[in-house]
Amino acid sequence: KLDTLKPSVKLSTKLVSGKPIPYSAVVEVFAQIESTTKRLEIIKYTSDFFLTVLNNNPNDLIYVTYLFINRLGPDYEGLELGLGETILIKTIAESTGKSTVHVKAKYRETGDLGEIALKARSTQPTMFKPKALTVMDVFKNLKEIATTTGNNSQAKKIGIIKRMLTASQGLEAKFIIRSLESKLRIGLAEKTVLISLARALVHFQSTSKKGPSVEKALEAEEKIKEAFCQVPNYQVIIETALEHGVLTLDKHCTLKPGVPLKPMLAKPTKSITEVLDKFTGEEFTCEYKYDGERAQVHLLNDGTVKVYSRNSEDMSQRYPDIIDAVQGFLQPDQETKSLIIDCEAVAWSREENKILPFQVLTTRKRKDVELKDIKVHVCLFAFDILCLNGEPVINLPLKKRRQLLQKTLKEIPGKFQFATSKNSTDVEELQAFLDISIKDSCEGLMVKTLNNDPYRPSQRSNSWLKLKKDYLAGVGDSLDLIVIGAYYGKGKRTGTYGGFLLGCYNQDTEEIESCCKIGTGFSDDVLKSLYEKLQPTELSQAKSYIIYDSSAEPDIWFEPTVLFEVLTADLSLSPIYKAGIATLGKGVSLRFPRFMRLRDDKGIEDATSSDQVVEFYERQAHQQN
Ligand code: ATP
Repeated sequence: KLDTLKPSVKLSTKLVSGKPIPYSAVVEVFAQIESTTKRLEIIKYTSDFFLTVLNNNPNDLIYVTYLFINRLGPDYEGLELGLGETILIKTIAESTGKSTVHVKAKYRETGDLGEIALKARSTQPTMFKPKALTVMDVFKNLKEIATTTGNNSQAKKIGIIKRMLTASQGLEAKFIIRSLESKLRIGLAEKTVLISLARALVHFQSTSKKGPSVEKALEAEEKIKEAFCQVPNYQVIIETALEHGVLTLDKHCTLKPGVPLKPMLAKPTKSITEVLDKFTGEEFTCEYKYDGERAQVHLLNDGTVKVYSRNSEDMSQRYPDIIDAVQGFLQPDQETKSLIIDCEAVAWSREENKILPFQVLTTRKRKDVELKDIKVHVCLFAFDILCLNGEPVINLPLKKRRQLLQKTLKEIPGKFQFATSKNSTDVEELQAFLDISIKDSCEGLMVKTLNNDPYRPSQRSNSWLKLKKDYLAGVGDSLDLIVIGAYYGKGKRTGTYGGFLLGCYNQDTEEIESCCKIGTGFSDDVLKSLYEKLQPTELSQAKSYIIYDSSAEPDIWFEPTVLFEVLTADLSLSPIYKAGIATLGKGVSLRFPRFMRLRDDKGIEDATSSDQVVEFYERQAHQQN
């Protein structure tokens, strides 16, 4: 049963039809959301408000949505806020007439700059009532702050923030500061925003007085989620839904070259027999699991080529060689105008004609690579095709997609190859194939169903399984965990950090849950470079969205930005660590964790989730039984 939405929520802020939505209305709803932990209530507050916005000024829904998810545009445009505490402390002090020492001391006490700004602002006398901020003002100011670069940029940013703080009323200062820190901390997950958008839009567009039926509301949710996986751009989705109706998003909002879609992901497995069990009765294929960097390659109608990372980041500047070569990979008789293919870019030795380890690829610069300076060459291993000549092909089964891929493109050894694959159900044959993949410098195998499943953007699906040779002895996979704190090094490690506190990401609450201390697997050089990387992100205080036990408190906290790939012997329930505590009642922690490498291609939200840790733990418990 779905609650009926309120078409016009009661707020102390007055909304006027056709007029810009005041920022104070958004802030009131943030406070309501912050006051509860119940997901259904949060959905209700959010969807009621979105519907109210639609009823008053639909054009502002996009600004409202961006403020709710705390972003400035689609991920692939790479606009980020995340201002450091130093600049925020300075700005709060200057704009509220307090000293930086005072603001710093308060910050040490409370850990929440938003609250501090709010308190300082509310005790400040105001000479005249400033003009109320609108959602569009705040969004545009935030965007200007994120895009300001060059000389004097810090002063310009401080200037914009000060203007906003001076104009702020009620609770606004608190949320302006939190948005600038890039964390609203009200427990609002992005999927809740998507669901709420669907409910508000379907209600707004319903012709029935009672609002849409439950079925229609659920259909709208499915449509919007699906559209978002294919076109992860809220502006496009909202505008398309307003123009054509949310229930027809699937017809009007499909993937297109130039807009990276969220890649499909795989589930870990621990043995070939587990694969055979899972795929009983299914036709499947095994492909080499190359150890490089995921590269979603787009060829646009105008001949432009773009390369996007696993994280939808534009990597075209990193791979000018790929950009330059793509036209040459097309089969000449096919007249291909545009496409999207899913590949792994792998470091390649032209002298020895073989794959080089992942570490070699990491020595390539991330930006501004010049063709003539390239020393680390790459070979692109293609394993899927997602769109061809403007037509999405993700709904075809892999068998067909593979045929299409091989018909459209041609191999150029050492530059562009199709993923090596084998179809077999024989354990020994598969074991031998796994062994050869390792000899060929791969991580193991990807096992995929051939006939029944589409390509599912963004999903960690049961139709793709990964079998990583190195992890068969552990829990079946490595974990990518967020570095949240560190312990001072002793003895040989004096002068750097000696160990780190790591956490996983809870996608429902947007909190980071501590899950282990790690001090093994680091060479002296790695520790030194980690110190250089992490030291500028040191904080005097844990961010309030970090869930930890005081008995594992580190010497230093960090702004969570860095991910470690970590190997573990197994997982155990722990009285100290907090991973998955909401599901299991007790936290899970990693036993004997070992550092493997940095994961620069993943953001905090892509870290191993609490749900995945619970899944690993339950699978292990099941096997032990
Ligand atoms: P996660 O840890 O979140 O599952 P990940 O990015 O760490 O994701 P893995 O799970 O280790 O990646 O494995 C999936 C990755 O393997 C893909 O994202 C892709 O980069 C890489 N890969 C290499 N070869 C293939 C292949 N043949 N098919 C699909 N992916 C492949």
